[in-house]
Amino acid sequence: MALDSKIPNGPISDKWTNYKDHINLVNPANKRNIDIIVVGTGLAGGSAAATLAELGYNVKAFCYQDSPRRAHSIAAQGGINAAKNYQGDGDSTFRLFYDTVKGGDYRAREANVHRLAEVSTNIIDQCVAQGVPLAREYGGLLDNRSFGGTLVSRTFYAKGQTGQQLLLGAYSAMNRQIGRGKIEMLNRHEMLDLVIVNGKARGIIARDSITGKIERHSAHAVVIASGGYGNVFFLSTNAMGSNVTASWKIHKKGAYFANPCYTQIHPTCIPVSGEHQSKLTLMSESLRNDGRIWVPAKLEDAKAIREGKLKPTQIAEADRDYYLERRYPAFGNLVPRDIASRAAKERCDAGFGVNKTGEAVYLDFAEAILRYGKDQAKVKHLDVNDEVLVKKLGTDVVASKYGNLFQMYEKIVDENPYQTPMMIYPAVHYTMGGVWVDYNLMTTIPGCFAIGEANFSDHGANRLGASALMQGLADGYFVLPYTIGDYLSPDIKVGKISTETQEFIDAENNVRAQIDVLMNAKGNKPVDYFHKKLGKIMWDKVGMARNAEGLTEAQQEIAAIREDFYKNVQVPGTANGLNPELSKALRVADFLELGELFAKDALHRNESCGGHFREEYQTADGEAQRDDQNFAYVAAWEYKGSPSDAVLHKEELVFDNVKLVQRSYK
Ligand SMILES: Cc1cc2nc3c(=O)[nH]c(=O)nc-3n(C[C@H](O)[C@H](O)[C@H](O)COP(=O)(O)OP(=O)(O)OC[C@H]3O[C@@H](n4cnc5c(N)ncnc54)[C@H](O)[C@@H]3O)c2cc1C
Repeated sequence: MALDSKIPNGPISDKWTNYKDHINLVNPANKRNIDIIVVGTGLAGGSAAATLAELGYNVKAFCYQDSPRRAHSIAAQGGINAAKNYQGDGDSTFRLFYDTVKGGDYRAREANVHRLAEVSTNIIDQCVAQGVPLAREYGGLLDNRSFGGTLVSRTFYAKGQTGQQLLLGAYSAMNRQIGRGKIEMLNRHEMLDLVIVNGKARGIIARDSITGKIERHSAHAVVIASGGYGNVFFLSTNAMGSNVTASWKIHKKGAYFANPCYTQIHPTCIPVSGEHQSKLTLMSESLRNDGRIWVPAKLEDAKAIREGKLKPTQIAEADRDYYLERRYPAFGNLVPRDIASRAAKERCDAGFGVNKTGEAVYLDFAEAILRYGKDQAKVKHLDVNDEVLVKKLGTDVVASKYGNLFQMYEKIVDENPYQTPMMIYPAVHYTMGGVWVDYNLMTTIPGCFAIGEANFSDHGANRLGASALMQGLADGYFVLPYTIGDYLSPDIKVGKISTETQEFIDAENNVRAQIDVLMNAKGNKPVDYFHKKLGKIMWDKVGMARNAEGLTEAQQEIAAIREDFYKNVQVPGTANGLNPELSKALRVADFLELGELFAKDALHRNESCGGHFREEYQTADGEAQRDDQNFAYVAAWEYKGSPSDAVLHKEELVFDNVKLVQRSYK
């Protein structure tokens, strides 16, 4: 199938407005006759479900947690971008658009990114109207801070709990509609297949994870908002349950999967501490506003620190290497995540790492504490030379900005980050790749839409901080509600979709058969055994730095683990009730297929761009070397029976509004 991205004609700044002016609408009375399934109730799905129900559609929403309130979105810490220019520091719609395209290393679709920048301001208004307690300045105006890859302050935040507060807003909006009966909320339900009738998505098969019941649900359209697939690496900052199953099932039914190899490795996470860890913790990028990243400048100091003979606070200023400030003076500690992550790896690989494993760098607030302390002392007419007082005042300011993050760090690492620098290291965090969608957010299956982190999104090969929440809420509150109406307008006379058709029976049988295979495998290895093995291959050979040899090996090794999994996995218990191991096995089965496609995609892309770093393609000073001549396209993979047989389709990217240049943050 030829890819048609359906980008409207006209100047970039008019496309979305013109599009909205000319699409087909569904009148309010007819909306009442149309059903929409939304799989996922994080920020993307929650905002979409609430808005679609408010518009009058009948919505059925699904999540695997016991409440939408627990979606992974709740973990988002640092903030959400919007081109409000409240700071008067030169921000604009174009600048947000430009920063995002450049930040993504010129691998995103211009028209979508511009639309995202346009609606970013509406999101803040919407959330404030809902009562989301975004941080405010002393005078009561909304406050902003900076995130990586930008030279302005455009990030709105709620301390280190932005995702939680935004989700409460979306959840409240959903609850209103649940109360009105416009949303039927199916918690603890996991979508396990898509049903296609006459070429259109018309429903899903879901498993009630409490009773084990396999259910058929029909609708006129299906929206996938099931989040990202970073857990293919086993260890990541994602919630433990985050998975690829919904996206993968629709892929197997005809939805192309785009750029699976574009994964974001976040530079500021708590380092891995041992073999038995199952989760990694993010230290928000907002900390890079005030924290300075460094390692010892001398190898012997780094060694002494690793051996516990020296403390970081004993290293003199002159003996510290603030390597981001040294290499990127213009952006300093606020370079984009892919660049900061690679720079940390480079220093640690060179022997300057500061924890026992040699895989950690420092994030230091000592200077910020003094700076804020002196500021406060001046404001309060106190003695700026009283070091104890200044430290106390500065600590209070830092605590007011990042207190919950510092507390989290201390609980996990058992060190006080106000007194000694934090130790951080890159970890898997976000997936820019995902289900391919056109301008309407529709997949290659008519009537099946994908939004939020589940789609291949607007972030190209690297997402700038605070842009995921923006994209998820843009999709859910402001984009999908228009585009889905255009699609549904011819469906107003279709009537209820029956679940008694052969297509539903086949899809249900398909799910039952997969569950039977897993329950009947008489192996003796737990699901996690396979997941960990997969994760290790992904990290070692498909992680922060990749090369052709490792990627070729990874594909073979993942296929072998998959085979082993089906022979030797042990899923205890029964399928007719609550069985977390079965849920896990179903998810890991899909990760084991995705992982192979991921490596295949990374191998075919003979260039480095954003988060995709191929060791063979780098500049003399170790930066990503793009090949715009041959790779300025979205790689959309079509499923053909197995990941190794997947067929590549290219969406050529056209850059009319930004100049394709080698990315620089110096
Ligand atoms: C620790 C952390 C901090 C972050 N901080 C920020 C930040 O400060 N700013 C920012 O912009 N971004 C941040 N991000 C990224 C951002 O949080 C996510 O990209 C975003 O929340 C994803 O939202 P979503 O709605 O697409 O998916 P999710 O929030 O992951 O929701 C997925 C939903 O799908 C459901 N689901 C999944 N599979 C199925 C299935 N098969 N059947 C039924 N339901 C299913 C789940 O139950 C859930 O409701 C952070 C990410 C992490 C990990």
